[in-house]
Amino acid sequence: MARHIIIGAGPAGVAAAETIRAHDADASVSLISNEPAYSRMVLPYYLAQEIPEKHVLTGDRDYFAERGIEALLGTAVTRVDGGQKTLTLSDGTTRAFDSLLIATGSSAQQPPIPGSDLEGVYAFWTLDDAQQVIAKAQATPSAVLIGAGFIGFIVLNAMAKLNWKLSVVEAEDQVLPRMLDATGAGAVEGWLTARDIAVHTATQVQEIRRNADGKLSLALSSGQALEADLVIMATGIRPNSDFLVGSGVSVEPGGIPVDDRMQTNVPGIYAAGDVAIGPDILAGRTASDIPASAHAIQPTAVDHGRIAGANMAGHETHYPGSLLLNVLDVVNLHCASFGLWRDEGHDTTTVFNASRPIYRKYVWHEDRIVGALFVGPIDDVTMLNDVGMVKGLIQTQQPLGDWAAYIKANPTDVRRAYVASGAAQALIGRTLLGTPARDRAYRVDGKTPPAWDKTATHGPLVSTQSEHYRELNPTPTPGIGKAE
Ligand SMILES: Cc1cc2nc3c(=O)[nH]c(=O)nc-3n(C[C@H](O)[C@H](O)[C@H](O)COP(=O)(O)OP(=O)(O)OC[C@H]3O[C@@H](n4cnc5c(N)ncnc54)[C@H](O)[C@@H]3O)c2cc1C
Repeated sequence: MARHIIIGAGPAGVAAAETIRAHDADASVSLISNEPAYSRMVLPYYLAQEIPEKHVLTGDRDYFAERGIEALLGTAVTRVDGGQKTLTLSDGTTRAFDSLLIATGSSAQQPPIPGSDLEGVYAFWTLDDAQQVIAKAQATPSAVLIGAGFIGFIVLNAMAKLNWKLSVVEAEDQVLPRMLDATGAGAVEGWLTARDIAVHTATQVQEIRRNADGKLSLALSSGQALEADLVIMATGIRPNSDFLVGSGVSVEPGGIPVDDRMQTNVPGIYAAGDVAIGPDILAGRTASDIPASAHAIQPTAVDHGRIAGANMAGHETHYPGSLLLNVLDVVNLHCASFGLWRDEGHDTTTVFNASRPIYRKYVWHEDRIVGALFVGPIDDVTMLNDVGMVKGLIQTQQPLGDWAAYIKANPTDVRRAYVASGAAQALIGRTLLGTPARDRAYRVDGKTPPAWDKTATHGPLVSTQSEHYRELNPTPTPGIGKAE
């Protein structure tokens, strides 16, 4: 009986454990994590009081036990010996494995700002951090966000929902520097300022002190000072790989390089999620190389976990690669970026209307879109639809032929090109493991989701069979009709 061990019960580790079990009913599967099994990405909804704490969890001991998965939650792995295929736990015991998955994610990284260890200054990365922030938050406090990146802004949005008084400090000269270009970032900064959220770019926090009245005071490099009840530091992450020293597993500063089966340089040892540098779906799609990096987002973590789990269970599966994507709600301004949005050396098509604001950028390689940016108010339904379609065009790398010229001339009419190029059919036919993904069985309080009656239009919409379209009642298009 094969012995599989997974380190880390985040999205990557849980997906891997369930995938191994789905492929091999008899194997021994152990899931070891120093935290509960949960999803970090829903912590902002917990902070915003939109979900209770238990909805953050993705499984408990009973759930895993029912699936024959041994869950050691609250236990750390302190050492791995890749040659002997053993690992050491925080209680000093040793375990042997046939295959091992490192799905240990990443941790918040903080610059050495004097005063960053004061009470009231938090990272917002773990469930424990979220509990501390929620416990500390008085009614309508003021908060300063240090670091205007993707994660920081997700937390900012949650704090804005609570009507806290907010300021943002960012060392680089624009907000969201790894997600938006200067035009998109300028639109976001204007939007925030108009909503009384002060934005200080090209500014560093030099020191945090506690005032006599109990408030925190932040000294900025601009000479200004900010006061707040709470400070959230979202200043980057680093992969959790220190325990691999001496293991034989190659580790780079950005994470653990893996092949398209998610295997590391050591046969039988795999890595997945934020800690792994996996294949990029756009590699080889343009004339220039894409620097290998960890994408550090949940969809990639789940994909990685499923691919690693299948291969660990002996079901050889190759990963086409993940798409770098960030989708964000900034106080009702939607922002999204996909793939090679930085446009270095590529043709671009842009639309910009500063007054709303609306901003779109498509980045081209030949007749394919290889990157895109979107910024627009949340009530712009056309943009929301197009975000999904453009993502599909990038994911499938569907050649657009003559439709490329059409989109360049009509950048807000993506739908026709999307349908004509066959991107939707290409996506419908695509599965990661050769079988459709299934709903996870974990239920909070045992409650199943409400039954959902599929309407008559649902089948044709997801069907690849043309006869289903004939079942639809034809809806007349205004202005277009048969001559009577
Ligand atoms: C506030 C916030 C909002 C986010 N929002 C989004 C979003 O909107 N969209 C999105 O795609 N992504 C989002 N993310 C990022 C997303 O949560 C991560 O990409 C994802 O959690 C990565 O999953 P993972 O399984 O690789 O690692 P993790 O979720 O980090 O899980 C790894 C687990 O392994 C444990 N571990 C580490 N070392 C050891 C050890 N030595 N022994 C035992 N256990 C160990 C860790 O403590 C952790 O519990 C957000 C993250 C945060 C913090």
